[in-house]
Amino acid sequence: MIKNLFKFTLIVITFQTFSSCCTATKNIRTQKETTSSIDVYKQTHVKTKTEQDSLTPDQVLLEFKEGNQRFNSGNITKREHSEEVRKAVTGGQFPKAIVLSCVDSRVPVEDVFDQGLGDVFVGRVAGNFVNTDLLGSMEFACKISGAKLIIVMGHQHCGAIKGAIDDVHLGNVTSMLANIKPAIAMSKNFEGDKTSKNEAYVKTVNKNNIRYAISEIRAKSEILKEMENKGEIKIVGGYYSLLTGKLEFLN
Ligand SMILES: [Zn+2]
Repeated sequence: MIKNLFKFTLIVITFQTFSSCCTATKNIRTQKETTSSIDVYKQTHVKTKTEQDSLTPDQVLLEFKEGNQRFNSGNITKREHSEEVRKAVTGGQFPKAIVLSCVDSRVPVEDVFDQGLGDVFVGRVAGNFVNTDLLGSMEFACKISGAKLIIVMGHQHCGAIKGAIDDVHLGNVTSMLANIKPAIAMSKNFEGDKTSKNEAYVKTVNKNNIRYAISEIRAKSEILKEMENKGEIKIVGGYYSLLTGKLEFLN
């Protein structure tokens, strides 16, 4: 009887030890993952104006290119938006760039460049064209908030580009698509089928739409043009492939 009781006690103690050991391992692992994620954020996130001022447009461009490489190679930073991380950005923002993107649900801008909370401004409109409101947003981002880089980003299989090519007329979509028509005019020398079914033509119009948006930024924003001329900001275009996740930067 005493022997059996001893055996039972031993089994219970062994089980409890094993169980608490697993819990401890689990806790350590959770703690390690959380710390690691916050550390990554602290390393890449700009926390002060001084830090932001010390960055050059070329450094930011390189960082965004490297971020896109991490994204398309499956090595995107594991981010957690814990209370600690959220609190860290409540005191102000010092983003490195502003990205003008299409609204397409398949283009997650922050992920595409592997950026976190407070790292990047994002302006979105179907067909990623420029208008007064977006220019004002870019001037706010660069002149007031200190961003160093403007990226105009088009993407593969863009419905807005195809809609403009097909001359779709539908409610407010009609006037929205009118903003893309200059890119179609720029593509008039394309040799081949000029329809939305021809992917090569759609891509040509898309890239010209990015180039046109950049020319509009320079033509319609004295502030941004001057900042670019002084080397305070850089304005670049990129074409995002849904298939590869890669951003092809345009010349
Ligand atoms: Zn689109």
